[in-house]
Amino acid sequence: MARCRLCGAPAIARIEYARAWFCEKHFLEFIDRKVRRALERYSMLGHGRRIVVAVSGGKDSAVLLYVLAKLGKELGIELHALHIDLGIEGYSEKMVEAVRRLCNELGVPLTIYSLPRELGFSVVDLARKLRRNLCSVCGMVKRFVLNAAGVEMRAVIATGHNADDIASYAIKSLIVQDYASLSKLVPVNEGIEGIAAPRIKPLYDVYEDEARLYAELAKVIYDPSECPYVDREAIEFLAKEFLERVERRSPGIKMSFLRKLAVEAPKLRTVVGGEEVGRCDACGLISMGSRCAFCRATEKAFGKALGREVRSFFATLAPTA
Ligand code: SF4
Ligand code: ZN
Ligand code: ZN
Repeated sequence: MARCRLCGAPAIARIEYARAWFCEKHFLEFIDRKVRRALERYSMLGHGRRIVVAVSGGKDSAVLLYVLAKLGKELGIELHALHIDLGIEGYSEKMVEAVRRLCNELGVPLTIYSLPRELGFSVVDLARKLRRNLCSVCGMVKRFVLNAAGVEMRAVIATGHNADDIASYAIKSLIVQDYASLSKLVPVNEGIEGIAAPRIKPLYDVYEDEARLYAELAKVIYDPSECPYVDREAIEFLAKEFLERVERRSPGIKMSFLRKLAVEAPKLRTVVGGEEVGRCDACGLISMGSRCAFCRATEKAFGKALGREVRSFFATLAPTA
């Protein structure tokens, strides 16, 4: 029987790239340490210690919140959870419930931003009105709401993207030759005072399988449901399968790819040319043209740019000191 490298107890997890077996306790500590080291290695706490974690109800962001809640005191982090209720029938209700239970158990303050309640539509309604691809509209809405929250709450936004997510997006960006997106696949995206909140990805070094096992062993509360609109044939999912096979053949290759990407990706910005960054004339947040994508989309679909409404919601959560 395989034994834990650290204590000799029966092992339950094999970490191939580290050529190590771990018992439950030492596997959990191994992942905690990985997150802590990523926070340090990439200076993720250099933009402030008020962290808003975007929690979807799924396993990755649940694990992220769980680990940060554990490390919070030691690192002096002020944690807040934010869930965006997308209004997807038969799915969003379950995710809201899982997030509530998780935050309750961890004692982390939670804000739920409900699109149907606050703005009167779901992401599905918005995409239909615009006759656009649902997932791209959904991604745009989530990015906007998170940024509005970060700017108003004067906080850093932390997302649960794991190593497999980031590596697969990188492969996709290469294939579709979207070098601007590739340049942003880094552990820390610097913000711009007053218009763009800094963003961090503390699970940058954590593999998806590791996050899954962590959630199972630590009994982290999450909902395994998948969005009914997910497209498993999307390039990023195909890239994930490819990367899994490559990783099986050469353990650790995904991580060394990501470490290099963290250093090299920002340099691409000079190659692709800096985008003209300005302020949206409707909501005042970051925009590549005179109007941000969210204000343009809501104006086209419902006759009114709604970015300001979203900002006002989060303004009430701004710190007083
Ligand atoms: Fe949004 Fe669902 Fe598409 Fe994910 S799969 S981007 S949650 S619509
Ligand atoms: Zn052990
Ligand atoms: Zn706007």
